[in-house]
Amino acid sequence: MTLLGIDVGGTNTKWVLMDGDTVTRSGSVPTPPGPDETVKLAASLARRVESIGIGLPGHVDRDTGTALFVPNPPGDWDGYPVAARLRELAGAPVSVVNDARAFARAELELGAARGLADVLFAVLGTGVGGAVALRGAVLAGPRDNLGEIGHLTVSPGGPACCCGNEGCLETFAAGPGIVRAAGSGTAAEAAEAARAGDGRAVKAFERAGWALGVALGDAASLLGVGSVVVGGGVAGALDLMRSALRAELARRRPLIGDIAVLPAVLGPMAGAIGAALYGRRSG
Ligand SMILES: [Zn+2]
Repeated sequence: MTLLGIDVGGTNTKWVLMDGDTVTRSGSVPTPPGPDETVKLAASLARRVESIGIGLPGHVDRDTGTALFVPNPPGDWDGYPVAARLRELAGAPVSVVNDARAFARAELELGAARGLADVLFAVLGTGVGGAVALRGAVLAGPRDNLGEIGHLTVSPGGPACCCGNEGCLETFAAGPGIVRAAGSGTAAEAAEAARAGDGRAVKAFERAGWALGVALGDAASLLGVGSVVVGGGVAGALDLMRSALRAELARRRPLIGDIAVLPAVLGPMAGAIGAALYGRRSG
């Protein structure tokens, strides 16, 4: 029985077909101009599938499969009945889930956190997403927004954040914050410069690691988790952040113990894989 998982991003939409726990086909296309077009794309991929899971970058109502607050992909998503429209076109059960919860579910069941029960997840990309697993289950919250570590305040009065607050983790550890601090064009270029010894770039990643350590350390003390998984496009530069990150965790050791910092292992398809797994559970 085949599962379809779709991960709708601000720029690209990724999809996987899975047989059990194995990805049999996958792809990535530019995100269509709106929710109607995205649902049509999903339906075109859904031939003879058992279930469909669709991950969105924002708040969703899982019970009704409706987008609540999804500001980044093109078009007007808020209030859009994703599950109902897609079910109508594709004739298969549809689950709608937040993309960070999907990422966490994939890494928990099939990736870096396999076999662990209590885990924090951070996804470093254009923003910083997050999720929490306790006792082997990824927690959701009423708008599927539980675990959004990116907007914990690590520096009161720090840089302005898109959320209205200042000094959020995201302003330091997401791609745009790193690029700004490093004075480079892209996060990948900043990482390259840091590896070549550019002082400003090195500092930008150290600052990102410090911010990540503050937020993860505080979250670990709040939740009592023993491991963190770090993924997303910027996580390829985790090595450049690691010592500053570890220093912040070490400072809190009496409170939180030794926290294992694990790089995510499923790569860019993790969100689509997790969405497919959510589809299976509901189907
Ligand atoms: Zn914020």
